[in-house]
Amino acid sequence: MASSTVRVDLDGKPINPLTICMIGAGGFIGSHLCEKILNETQHKILALDVYNDKIKHLLEPDSLSWAGRIQFHRINIKHDSRLEGLIKMSDLTINLAAICTPADYNTRPLDTIYSNFIDALPVVMLLHFIMFPVSFSIELVVAVKYCSENGKRLIHFSTCEVYGKTIGSFLPKDSPLRQILLDQASLVICLRFDPAYYVLKEDASPCIFGSIEKQRWSYACAKQLIERLVYAEGAENGLEFTIVRPFNWIGPRMDFIPGVDGPSEGVPRVLACFSNALLRREPLKLVDGGQSQRTFVYIKDAIEAVLLMIENPSRANGHIFNVGNPNNEVTVRQLAEMMTAVYANVSGEPALEEPTVDVSSKEFYGEGYDDSDKRIPDMTIINRQLGWNPKTSLWDLLDSTLTYQHKTYAEAIKKVMSQPTTS
Ligand code: NAD
Ligand code: UDP
Repeated sequence: MASSTVRVDLDGKPINPLTICMIGAGGFIGSHLCEKILNETQHKILALDVYNDKIKHLLEPDSLSWAGRIQFHRINIKHDSRLEGLIKMSDLTINLAAICTPADYNTRPLDTIYSNFIDALPVVMLLHFIMFPVSFSIELVVAVKYCSENGKRLIHFSTCEVYGKTIGSFLPKDSPLRQILLDQASLVICLRFDPAYYVLKEDASPCIFGSIEKQRWSYACAKQLIERLVYAEGAENGLEFTIVRPFNWIGPRMDFIPGVDGPSEGVPRVLACFSNALLRREPLKLVDGGQSQRTFVYIKDAIEAVLLMIENPSRANGHIFNVGNPNNEVTVRQLAEMMTAVYANVSGEPALEEPTVDVSSKEFYGEGYDDSDKRIPDMTIINRQLGWNPKTSLWDLLDSTLTYQHKTYAEAIKKVMSQPTTS
């Protein structure tokens, strides 16, 4: 419930209600951000997306306390002149729209590059175009231009994937720079690098991608170029911007369950892939042995960081922020094991005797797949500017997320699986 007391920012100043144009509001992150804003603030949201299934619960009932503070506009930003007017009406534009599932990066590289670079351009170029009228198409120019000319802010969603591979991944296995340590907690001997070789810092780490035929990197490359464009608009034309680099945000409503609320042959991100296998009582597929490492952050923790950015422009403008949980690192194999254990608790059904199966990346994703080896966010900038830290452990976030998955999908999956398959 939105509080009626005056909200203050981190410096104790009252926060004026904003009008926010949220592009991609109907997606996973957008749905949580809309919920948070409506429940805890007085800001108004112009929610733009081609779908609204994940925010339907926020749009329908007129009686809720936020009635009138969210309007949905079914808009494809590739070709809709209404975008310009909506950005003009807003104090802040947040761009979340993207193709962002790895299964698409190497199989639909053109759509991936268009979605993450070309289609994002209008959102950055709109204001610029008013200042410097050049014969770009409206589609290309609309969003960026309005933001920078009318003193509008932009919060652009990029990705941790812009870092690509770590420097450490290129060290030979027997390099003296790799240290052998005894992990005191597990009493297991493990290889540990000096953090300088793997911790990812916004203002220091290089962006290291694979070769061009490894089309996995089409997404990271497109995101990097739009980051550079936004940054240059800030440096040369005064655009007030913030760039967010999410590090594997996970939680309820992420992606889809194939054959239930998404295509049967679709391949979502790892949380939904593993949830789908658990719901169907099938082994979880470990790509290339599940050796890659990830840090997972609970969506509700991450959304707190975004709200701080929205409400503290003087601390957030001009910055790029890693948003992740460095304490929640696991290999994908460990994630599979933990999800299996948590799901057995949640569902009351014992785990399979062989809960995982190895699969090659070529078989799972096709030609051109490649992987980020390790993603640990450096937290210095977000700690310093916004005082934000994540709170939720991996076990706890998986517990609440898999409880949601079970409640939402278990019956539907049973129905789908009881139907005869067409061969
Ligand atoms: P999502 O796919 O759930 O949401 C994206 C939304 O954008 C979808 O609802 C989609 O319909 C909409 N959209 C795409 N193209 C559009 C268009 N042309 N016009 C209108 N709407 C369009 O993804 P998400 O996980 O919510 O991610 C949001 C943003 O955060 C993306 O930019 C993504 O690259 C970035 N990101 C997310 C994560 C994560 O952990 N979830 C990690 C790295 C980066
Ligand atoms: N992965 C896996 N099995 C699956 C889905 C994904 O082993 O069923 C791996 C994938 O190869 C990657 C990691 O899980 O190493 C995370 O994949 P995700 O799709 O969530 O996105 P990424 O973190 O790579 O952007």
